[in-house]
Amino acid sequence: MAARCWIAAASAVVLTFAAGEGPALAQPAAPFLMGGVAAAPGTTASGDLKVPGGAGDSGTEIPFTVIHGTKPGPVLALIAGTHGVEYPPVLALQRLRGAIDPRTLAGTVVLVHMANMPSFLARTIYYGPKDGQNLNRVFPGRRDGTLSERIAFVITTAVIDRATHVIDIHCGDGNEWLRPYSYWVVTSAPPVVAASKDLALAFGLDHIVIDTERPNDPAASVYLANTAMTRGKPALTAESGGWSRTDEESIARIERGVAGVLKHLGMRAEGPDPVAHPVWLGRNEVLRSGFTGLLYPLVEPGQTVAKGTPIARVTDFHGRLLEEIRAPFAGEVLYVVATPPITKGEPVGFVAERAAAPPAAAAAPAHAASR
Ligand SMILES: [Zn+2]
Repeated sequence: MAARCWIAAASAVVLTFAAGEGPALAQPAAPFLMGGVAAAPGTTASGDLKVPGGAGDSGTEIPFTVIHGTKPGPVLALIAGTHGVEYPPVLALQRLRGAIDPRTLAGTVVLVHMANMPSFLARTIYYGPKDGQNLNRVFPGRRDGTLSERIAFVITTAVIDRATHVIDIHCGDGNEWLRPYSYWVVTSAPPVVAASKDLALAFGLDHIVIDTERPNDPAASVYLANTAMTRGKPALTAESGGWSRTDEESIARIERGVAGVLKHLGMRAEGPDPVAHPVWLGRNEVLRSGFTGLLYPLVEPGQTVAKGTPIARVTDFHGRLLEEIRAPFAGEVLYVVATPPITKGEPVGFVAERAAAPPAAAAAPAHAASR
């Protein structure tokens, strides 16, 4: 019942934002309060959001940092660790905690260092170890739900509802070899869609997938970034790194992306320029295995493929070929699964086709990806 009341309240917020008022800006004359921590203007403070226990678990914690500026401005939430084996976003936020100076900042940056602590500590890809759920499929979450749903509920209510802009930072999961890209969701209110496009350009990744299939119901937003957008807040999902690696290049790319967004939002005077000539990707498809067995990737991320190019091969445990998965259309490989285990229905790769640039918000390519 409590969750029902909360959903009704969230819907009311969306109506307010849809009228064009936008979320309120932070007022740095006052401390920014979060999770029992008060960050005074011009200071950085850290704490842990508590996720209460439920059936079969004792809950968890979500470590965060608030960097509270001295001038009014946006509240930018940066979230890492939604998936447990995605390390460059986590390491980038560890660096940003000290690198963003609150004394010269306009507005407030909220760093969520580890959204999915159970998955991180258990080193599980895709799914939480307690409930087998993908955290980035259960938003906006439930107060009294599974552990993943309770984590989502806390992130929605304590972080997203407090933010004006949200960036959910991912990479290829522990088994995924990936070239960097971001998702631009075009299914929300036009002003939010337009501002989200600007966020994607400011973050600077030069491949941008146009996502046309995210739900626009704030009570069933499913994805983290989409939860922000259905509440009237510009948002972005970024991907840099993967395959369980902690490479400097992938970490630095995220730091640069955040610096670009801080400049774009007027939170800092200096920063890199937006990407000038991005590759817009329209039609796209996550290719999935029809069988359980051993996976052999046949392409690399960034590779251009023709329609019918073999992407991966699946054999049974006795070496017999079960399936050769081929590109359904000509395009570019954004990621490919590059470790042997594969279960029927799971992704083996992601292919996307170049769109005309720059796209209109109403462009309607088919088969939006799901991350
Ligand atoms: Zn992820």
